[in-house]
Amino acid sequence: MDFGIQDKWALVCAGSKGLGRACAESLAEEGVNVVIVARGVEALAETAAHIGANTEVEVRTVSADITTAEGRKEALSACPKLDILVNNAGGPPAGNFRDFEIADWEKALHANMLTPIELIKSVLDGMIERKFGRIVNITSAAVKAPIPILGLSNGARAGLTGFIAGLSRQTPVHNVTINNILPGAFATETMNGRMAAMAKQSNQSIGDVAKSRLNAIPAGRFGEPKEFGQLCAYVCSAQASYITGHNFLIDGGVYNGTL
Ligand code: NAP
Repeated sequence: MDFGIQDKWALVCAGSKGLGRACAESLAEEGVNVVIVARGVEALAETAAHIGANTEVEVRTVSADITTAEGRKEALSACPKLDILVNNAGGPPAGNFRDFEIADWEKALHANMLTPIELIKSVLDGMIERKFGRIVNITSAAVKAPIPILGLSNGARAGLTGFIAGLSRQTPVHNVTINNILPGAFATETMNGRMAAMAKQSNQSIGDVAKSRLNAIPAGRFGEPKEFGQLCAYVCSAQASYITGHNFLIDGGVYNGTL
């Protein structure tokens, strides 16, 4: 199926590794020019080279911290026009909420709630004017089924989800949609870090933690970033103009509910 987004421009935040990178790759495979933002220059260069070698799209990289106003400004100024925005940033650390200070909460809120909202504020009216826009926020399965040691993530992402629920109904009349994609357990650096934290907290080996996580996944495996990126590309497609305000859970069947 042709997704009808060839020659569009996408800004993919936190796009040099893992799920963000997979979104950038899948969009590029659909002919979308991509601006990829991350802090580390090496992974950015490697990702850009990989996309450049496998597609014919234009790839630009911005080395910046997307959670800062300056970083967002740099990222936005690298896009000639913005048709697709993939909001993403690193997740907050795990821990016992009794140890979190206000500064920890502020950091989590900036990364996982306020940064996406600020970026949406910057791009939405242009999308509305041009009658095309796709905004995807990478959140977490923890929005639907909170994970006890991820209080900062549970809280900050729930705030974003509530905001998006309201905004996303105001835009589809202009062919601008806003959706969230909620990853379960995907094989990325972040997930390895999470498993290491869980192992430390529960006094187990990382292998044992991985095994018990796998036992709880009906699909019997961790997700592959590529399948996440492909869902993102579909949600950004021309065909998906009637889909807005959704929370797409992609978790191998872990969430055990009828709806
Ligand atoms: P990952 O593989 O570790 O990649 C994280 C990416 O984000 C890297 O490109 C990193 O590059 C970039 N990044 C982090 N902080 C940034 C910042 N402040 N500014 C710009 N770029 C930044 O992580 P992932 O697994 O894809 O996770 C992506 C998001 O999904 C995270 O919020 C994570 O908590 C959430 N999530 C993941 C899973 C999972 O199973 N993987 C499950 C639930 C939720 P630099 O470090 O070089 O900046």
